[in-house]
Amino acid sequence: MSRMLQQYRDAKALHPGMLVLFRNGDFYELFEDDAELGSKVLGLTLTKRDGTVPMAGVPVHRLEHYLGQLIKAGHRVAVCEQMEEPDPKKKIIHREVNRVVTPGTVTEEGLLDPKSPNHLVAVFATKSSVFGVAWVDLSAGVFGAADVPAARLTDEFARLNAAEVLYADGQAGTITEAASVVMPRTRSPRPDWTFDPTTATQALKTHFQVATLSGFGFEDDQPCLTAAGAIVVYLQETLRASLSHLRRLQPHRPDTLLTLDEVTRRSLELTRTLRDAQRDGSLLSVLDRTVTPMGARMLHDSLLAPLTDRAAITARLDAVEELVKDHALRGQLRDQLDACSDIQRLATRVSTARATPPDLAKIAATLRLLPAVKAKLSGRRSSLLAALEQRLELCPDLRDLLDRALKVDPPLSAKDGDVIKEGYSPDLDELRKLSSEGKGWIARYQAAEITRTNITSLKVGYNEVHGYYIEVTHANAGRVPADYVRKQTLKNAERYITPQLKEYEEKVLSAQEKSQALELQLFNQLREQVAAQTHRLLNTADVLAAADFLAALAELAASRNYVRPVLVDEPVLDIKDGRHPVLDVILPPGTFVPNDAAFGPEAGTFWLITGPNMSGKSTFIRQVALLTLMAHVGSFVPAKAATVGLTDRIFTRVGASDELSRGQSTFMVEMTEAANILNNATRRSLVILDEIGRGTSTYDGVSLAWAITEYLHGAVGCRALFATHYHELAQLAATLPNLRNYNVTVQEHEKDVVFLHKIGPGNADKSYGIHVARLAGVPEPVLARAESVLGTLEARHQLPVGTPPPAVETPAPKPPEPKPTRKKPTPTPVAPPEAPKRKPAGPTLFDDPN
Ligand code: ADP
Repeated sequence: MSRMLQQYRDAKALHPGMLVLFRNGDFYELFEDDAELGSKVLGLTLTKRDGTVPMAGVPVHRLEHYLGQLIKAGHRVAVCEQMEEPDPKKKIIHREVNRVVTPGTVTEEGLLDPKSPNHLVAVFATKSSVFGVAWVDLSAGVFGAADVPAARLTDEFARLNAAEVLYADGQAGTITEAASVVMPRTRSPRPDWTFDPTTATQALKTHFQVATLSGFGFEDDQPCLTAAGAIVVYLQETLRASLSHLRRLQPHRPDTLLTLDEVTRRSLELTRTLRDAQRDGSLLSVLDRTVTPMGARMLHDSLLAPLTDRAAITARLDAVEELVKDHALRGQLRDQLDACSDIQRLATRVSTARATPPDLAKIAATLRLLPAVKAKLSGRRSSLLAALEQRLELCPDLRDLLDRALKVDPPLSAKDGDVIKEGYSPDLDELRKLSSEGKGWIARYQAAEITRTNITSLKVGYNEVHGYYIEVTHANAGRVPADYVRKQTLKNAERYITPQLKEYEEKVLSAQEKSQALELQLFNQLREQVAAQTHRLLNTADVLAAADFLAALAELAASRNYVRPVLVDEPVLDIKDGRHPVLDVILPPGTFVPNDAAFGPEAGTFWLITGPNMSGKSTFIRQVALLTLMAHVGSFVPAKAATVGLTDRIFTRVGASDELSRGQSTFMVEMTEAANILNNATRRSLVILDEIGRGTSTYDGVSLAWAITEYLHGAVGCRALFATHYHELAQLAATLPNLRNYNVTVQEHEKDVVFLHKIGPGNADKSYGIHVARLAGVPEPVLARAESVLGTLEARHQLPVGTPPPAVETPAPKPPEPKPTRKKPTPTPVAPPEAPKRKPAGPTLFDDPN
């Protein structure tokens, strides 16, 4: 045990921070601390080896299952294998770690979510406030990099949703602080030298076999190249396989994308719901009509990174429109795509030498479908569909090769044979013939020996230990010929061999062995030949993904009655009968109340929406943001008509989320988010605010909301929607020319209140809080008491508060776009709203605030 434990500890030392699964016969064992962890994470029984060393094991055949659980839990695992057959003469078997699996480097199908990308991210901090960031989705062969200003680091992390992050050990503090809340569970600190700019960039150049990275669109000294180089070194260490499918490093240009900060992504519930982080109920879940995992991943990425380039968006919309109109074409194309396998991830497994025979068979099957897909894409009017048709490589040579070489339904492992087709290799055919002919030869030999010896019960048999033998019962022992050599004595019979039988045995057995070895070799060669074409397969995979993505958007638009948005350069927005994409699906058909939204020179830029709780304010403002975002993705939108002005960023400050878990007060979070918006929004941005200042006293809250409104309206001039129940703010319409008051219509019927969910001009004058409390089941005595308190308060305070302050709209200088921070606007001489007037008389229910 002590030697084995030493071997285990050596493996641990070579793989710091990883769990080591140590092969011992029929089990993979975990020892010491790992064993305790394994028993917690995997529910394994903890035992003591030699009475002292904690140990827990998983059966060999369950390895993949347990690996999956460990990866899901964020662990990195090294699998230490027995590198030789157990030999009783040797005290210790040679063992080696021959597989390392980490959340960011898995490529095994069973360990990955087919519908979302899996990013390994590396970050490198520089002396200036810029971070070099690089990422790889190994399973899809995607490798990208960008230099990111410190202020944008969390947004970039949120977009990438990293499964694992690499950074230099020496920078751990800086990076954990900068990316704090969005750091993934799996953190892999690396030796500092792997993040040395010279070493790392050289590793990158060596990988791509280039002298400079300018060909990819980078300057040679960009910090993100250091991060990218560190990824290459890490992958070489962990994968120990070819990285040939990472053929280029894509520069990421945030300026061509609509920026969504981390808060906005989460609060708009783009890919996960806020409440329970589920995909179900997110925008993605209702938009996703894709039929391939490749298309699903593309949709996922596109939602998180909408476009800002009008031509690029229009190209997508044209393609979607063509597919919306041609119902038959869309159906056929989607049927064909549905039959395609995930050749993006399959190709990656081929190039990392992990592909199994069924993997290659799936590639072959998909290649056979391509001509039909290409035919469907040909002759299209839309430039994007036409370009896809051009790009789709049929790879006929590869298809022929696989068709000639591979059996139809090959087994999982090439070691067991039955993978390569007859006729592919004459040598293999010959060996197979030999081994199968063996069986006939044995039958003939048995018959001949029965005739020769006259022993009718004579049998030729085979077992693992003695090979082929002739069995003769003791009763017939006298008739055994002299050339029979005795091998084994049983209770009733004697077993013999003959030189002839031995010779044949060698031929048959070695033919079988040779045929299996040759088959494995042929399979490996085949896989290498396919690997050499990975770039073509990945290119084709991109085409299939894009075709699926566009056809899925078209299917959605057609089935849910969406309309094509008109994109314009001016920062306007005009939506007729817009619907919230998620509620539109969830609510019973026909019950969602559509609403208009209009922003522009006449319609105003700032909508102040008042109305009671539960009336539909936040649904409406989110709906406007979601429709704007969808239009920038190239999707049709749920509305009767929509004109959407190009937008550079969407900002949200909505509801209290789960921020408390981050150790910040709700109010602090609110203000941090507000500060981010005020500092970064431009005239091209869309801002939605759902209550501001709730977490502080009413006066503080109203004053902040008041000032924020003035600033966004004047200094920023962006399109903004602000849902609030500070009715006082409505007075701002008198002084701010582009501010419009809206409210949600409420119908009162005796004590009942019906929310019509219809947004109309004007401001609300009542809060209906008590009605909502009634709906929520607050007991009647409490409601009655609240009503009487309200009556008293209303009598004491003059509501709404006083006259608007002297009107001076601030024509603050427009900031250059985009810009990280903004100067304060010229001081605004608009006075804050007056505080509610104190009335001395009347029974004192509560002390007045202040
Ligand atoms: P508020 O922000 O005013 O408190 P919400 O936007 O959260 O209200 O809406 C409350 C509920 O009202 C939603 O969960 C939804 O079920 C319903 N609702 C909101 N808007 C609409 C609408 N336009 N049509 C139908 N139901 C709606």
